[in-house]
Amino acid sequence: MGMVHETAIALEVLRASQETLAQHGGGKLVRVKVAVGELSAVLPELLIYAWEAAAAGTSAKGAALEVEFCPAVQRCPSCGPVARQAGVWVPLCPACGSPLQVEGGMELDLLQVEFEPDGGGCEPDR
Ligand SMILES: [Zn+2]
Repeated sequence: MGMVHETAIALEVLRASQETLAQHGGGKLVRVKVAVGELSAVLPELLIYAWEAAAAGTSAKGAALEVEFCPAVQRCPSCGPVARQAGVWVPLCPACGSPLQVEGGMELDLLQVEFEPDGGGCEPDR
């Protein structure tokens, strides 16, 4: 329930990973690393779950998805970045009371694709 977003993203990550793999001569996916911004509306644990479901039944079965969480930054136009905890929004600059701007947190990027080249030691998995 409510996983449509993550499922679509997992499929896109899988597609992009396999494209990268093909560009490097093929092989078996071992690990894929993605950056997920705080404001991207993606829950990392749901994305990993959706990834496992998407990868099952493909050549990427068993490959690990690693999610790097990228928090958003709240910045005061006068004082610069304001310290905050993930998920907690500061309404106004604690130093001068100005409205804050938000930077980053929208990341949804494929960072790294790790794979074993074809013929790399392991028994063929049938
Ligand atoms: Zn300020």
